[in-house]
Amino acid sequence: MTVSRRDFVKTSVLGAVAAGVGRPAALSAATEQASPASSPKRPVIICAHNGRASIEAAYDFLKGGGDTLDAAIRVVKGPEDDPNDDSVGLGGLPNEDGVVELDACCMHGPTRRAGSVGAVRNIKNVSLVSKAVMEHTGHVMLVGEGAERFAVAVGFPRENLLTEHSRKIWLLWKEFHSDRDWWGPGLADPRWRPPAPESKPQSELWQDRIEQLRQRAADLGIEPEFQLAAVRRVLFPPTGTIHCSALNEKGEISGVTTTSGLAFKLPGRCGDSPIIGAGCYTDQDVGSAGATGSGEENIKVAGAHTIVENMRHGMSPQEAGMDALKRIVRNYNNDMDRLHFVSMTYYILRKDGAYAGVSLWQGAEGRPHRFVVHDGTARFEPAVGLLKGEAQEWPPFPRIPEELKKDSEYLK
Ligand code: ASP
Repeated sequence: MTVSRRDFVKTSVLGAVAAGVGRPAALSAATEQASPASSPKRPVIICAHNGRASIEAAYDFLKGGGDTLDAAIRVVKGPEDDPNDDSVGLGGLPNEDGVVELDACCMHGPTRRAGSVGAVRNIKNVSLVSKAVMEHTGHVMLVGEGAERFAVAVGFPRENLLTEHSRKIWLLWKEFHSDRDWWGPGLADPRWRPPAPESKPQSELWQDRIEQLRQRAADLGIEPEFQLAAVRRVLFPPTGTIHCSALNEKGEISGVTTTSGLAFKLPGRCGDSPIIGAGCYTDQDVGSAGATGSGEENIKVAGAHTIVENMRHGMSPQEAGMDALKRIVRNYNNDMDRLHFVSMTYYILRKDGAYAGVSLWQGAEGRPHRFVVHDGTARFEPAVGLLKGEAQEWPPFPRIPEELKKDSEYLK
């Protein structure tokens, strides 16, 4: 997985933002770019950045007459099967108990059906399980143990989804809290060190903390080249997901979203990804939309459904997505101190082939949030940002001092 690092904020929200979301001044310069799809083509597939490796084959399948939902699932199955993508499927970062729990949902435009599964353990391809719920039950959503038993009944193999790589990161996360619980080296361990004096400057405290964690990562057997990345995941538990929408030449359209959700979440937590209307929504008359980012915030604005309804009432894909983002901003009364901890990207595809990717935060200078499009040529495109700067990860650890940020290889 390429975890987008939003940790050390170089946020420069435009001064006017807090004064009036919804006014042009609230928008970053990027919003003034032309909509990417001025002359829409079909077929077209749009997905999150981590679908780049699997989109080509899925596009060929779609162009060859394959079903739109099957094509979208071909895209997201790539990251689900990839043990190195630690945000989806096999190798996803686990919940706080060290158990991988996956969420997914899908909508099939041509037959106007939907399926969804939440908090599923031991089954890798939950996108396909959500499709099986749609095809083999009279329900729309199954969760937890019942969803797992259903998956096994229809032929999915049970397997251990926790890779060694993800298990070690989880253990490092447990041990990071070891001055507050009984995990990690205890008092009798030769490596135990007394807590740093309160008076120590922040920069030194951070240097110590990072070095201690890196050392623990080494002790746990994490490869040297991955130790700092593991430390980052512990300090700032990542999110990550994949959404994909696919439209064929005939104008049929479908969507799917799949994820392991927030790293180290509470067991049983479902984010937006399995919620029809939040993580994904498709209406054959209008188009399709999906989301990655802060699931709790997206559920509250029913993001994907809001976007599709906006397009139904005449908004362009970009306008429709921006409106949903502004609703998230409105839910916090434009309070940037809180919004800094929210991230959200929407992937939007209209029935005529027009599309957009929009993000609450534009992304780091020179590194905007990106999405993938294939309409004959596969490519990354920058998402259009509502606000300038980057989101910060939750939880809000003490700010890392600027002078340390400048030199630390940790920030590269
Ligand atoms: N939306 C996902 C969730 O909240 C996480 C993500 O997209 O990064 O579970």
